[in-house]
Amino acid sequence: MPLAPEDSVTRLGGVGPALAARLEKLGVRTVQDLVLLLPARYEDRTRVVPIGSLQPGQRAVVEGEILLAEVVRRRRPMLVVAFGDATGMLTLRFFHFTARQQQSLARGARLRCFGEARAGQRGLEMVHPEYQRAEPEEEPEAPALTPVYPGTEGLTQARLRQLVRLAWRALGQTLPELLPPGALAGRGLPSLDEALRLLHQPPPDEDVAALESGHHPARQRLALEELLAHQLAMRALRYRARRQAAWPLPGGPLVDRFIAALPFALTAAQQRVIAEVRRDLAAREPMMRLVQGDVGSGKTVVAAAAALQAVASGAQAAIMAPTELLAEQHHGNFRGWLEPLGVGVAWLSGSQPAAERRAALARIAAGEAAVVVGTHALFQDGVEFARLALAVIDEQHRFGVHQRLALTDKGTSAGRRPHQLIMTATPIPRTLAMATYADLDTSVIDELPPGRGEVRTVAMPESRRAEVIARIREACAAGRQAYWVCPLVEESDQLQAQAAEDTATLLAETLPELTVGLVHGRMKPADKERVMRAFKAGEIHLLVATTVIEVGVDVPRASLMIIENAERMGLAQLHQLRGRVGRGSADSTCLLLYKPPLSPTATTRLAAMRETNDGFRIARTDLELRGPGEVLGVRQTGLLSFKAADLARDQALMPLVRELADALLQRHPDAVAALTTRWIGVATRYGQV
Ligand code: ADP
Ligand code: MG
Repeated sequence: MPLAPEDSVTRLGGVGPALAARLEKLGVRTVQDLVLLLPARYEDRTRVVPIGSLQPGQRAVVEGEILLAEVVRRRRPMLVVAFGDATGMLTLRFFHFTARQQQSLARGARLRCFGEARAGQRGLEMVHPEYQRAEPEEEPEAPALTPVYPGTEGLTQARLRQLVRLAWRALGQTLPELLPPGALAGRGLPSLDEALRLLHQPPPDEDVAALESGHHPARQRLALEELLAHQLAMRALRYRARRQAAWPLPGGPLVDRFIAALPFALTAAQQRVIAEVRRDLAAREPMMRLVQGDVGSGKTVVAAAAALQAVASGAQAAIMAPTELLAEQHHGNFRGWLEPLGVGVAWLSGSQPAAERRAALARIAAGEAAVVVGTHALFQDGVEFARLALAVIDEQHRFGVHQRLALTDKGTSAGRRPHQLIMTATPIPRTLAMATYADLDTSVIDELPPGRGEVRTVAMPESRRAEVIARIREACAAGRQAYWVCPLVEESDQLQAQAAEDTATLLAETLPELTVGLVHGRMKPADKERVMRAFKAGEIHLLVATTVIEVGVDVPRASLMIIENAERMGLAQLHQLRGRVGRGSADSTCLLLYKPPLSPTATTRLAAMRETNDGFRIARTDLELRGPGEVLGVRQTGLLSFKAADLARDQALMPLVRELADALLQRHPDAVAALTTRWIGVATRYGQV
């Protein structure tokens, strides 16, 4: 009896709980998952290579006879096999072997082996080749390239290949076609069954490079379907959210008074985005809007205008930032802007003294504080809002999708869902945003406030430190300030803090005429704040910092930034750090110190930094270098782990994905559920929030 696609793998013969657990590590739970497990690469084992013609480094199939087999006892026993055909000889080495293996690898046995030939002490050898008796037990019907699947411990490639074949057969070599009829017409893409057959058993003359890079039409066919499934899941999320009611926030003259009182004129981009947000907030359905704007583009003012619209409508707004330092800065800004207008601002953070926290909670619950600024402590248990109608989340990429969902759940009260405004300084390329934020509307602040100086970026090897010191001396003598960002120590916060302390001591000795400050992640928030305040006030000339200054800190007089070990940092992070300078009218410089030799990726990153200040271009390069999960900060959440698709590679499919999503939602609703189940499996729960 054929199995159904959604049947558990344990329905397949020979698959017990232990094997099922291993398969689960590969994301494989159902029979269909096995069929959708796509090879990472292919090997041509259709040709048997004469041993005499093997070259070192060649991966090949050889066939021959065991001439000698013995267990050599060094520190650990090793099975050494001399193996030959009519043309030559080869040594096979096994460091791990069972008694049964030892028995079967006996003199006279004929084997077919696959492995990489390496130069050994006595001619060529293969270490742990795959092998089978020369009369193979199971061969594909027609000669085919051999697929190599993404592996996991305790599961050999031979077993995986066998399981995939078994699953495919159990399904009758077919999966239901879920794309609307005609969807693929004229696009050169094969049907699902054709695509799967080709991917698992490509004929020997197939274009291996296209298969492995994923540009092959068969792979594109599956990528299209998978992207479509994700798109549909997110549309469902959006649809469900929109069906809930929100407080309509019509606003009032308060917002205009705030804008009129600002010491600067809004840029055209800020005005446009504020208008978009205003329109959303006035509606009865919850706003779900992403505002993208490069560092320094002035997103905070947009958030404040939105918060005031809530306040003017008699409701509360919450502003959440990912770090204490940034939340503190927002708190300072908001108080400066809002209190003169008679609007109460409260502060909540994890490290706050208990009495202060209680007082803040009381003001929030009573509605005396109309605006609340804080870290994620804002949405922990025990925080009761009188009437929360807007949640602003700053620097969203650090929160990730799960937290975004949890947040709005928290805020929902009396059946009303808060409007959501998400602000990110990590610009997301348009196609990526379409693929990953289909549940959000997006606004872009694509203009910096006028009168900003240029930021010039220079990369130099760390051997030129003396030059760097001279630059700092010069800049500070001219009344400027400088940042020195310390190397990233991934292993530990403590080592990182230590490195920063050492650097600060050293710099203070080298530059005795300057005041050197230090801020790192292990300092108490109050101490950090004190140092930052002193730096802002110009009392500190040179601020030595770890990457805690990454987000949002605003010191217009700082015009020089030195980043040590820049080769170890990601592109988005470098761009964020650089955004700390160039906030005033003076020209600024960012010096990227690196330790040679540079890896190719590091070279590309540093070149991108030198060439452009445009966050969108940086983001595109970053996307190519690291992949979308990293760029969006959601690698661990699973929402972006694709089986067939690759967002960087398959961006060109997105317009078609959107078109198909529309068609399916309107005309084939049953296929929608089937598609999300097929590709996202349990993750369809995202659609049920
Ligand atoms: P980001 O988008 O990185 O969060 P901020 O909101 O922190 O940027 O703004 C950076 C700086 O620019 C702040 O000092 C802010 O007061 C200032 N600013 C914002 N909008 C304008 C404007 N239209 N004209 C001049 N300065 C502005
Ligand atoms: Mg900001």
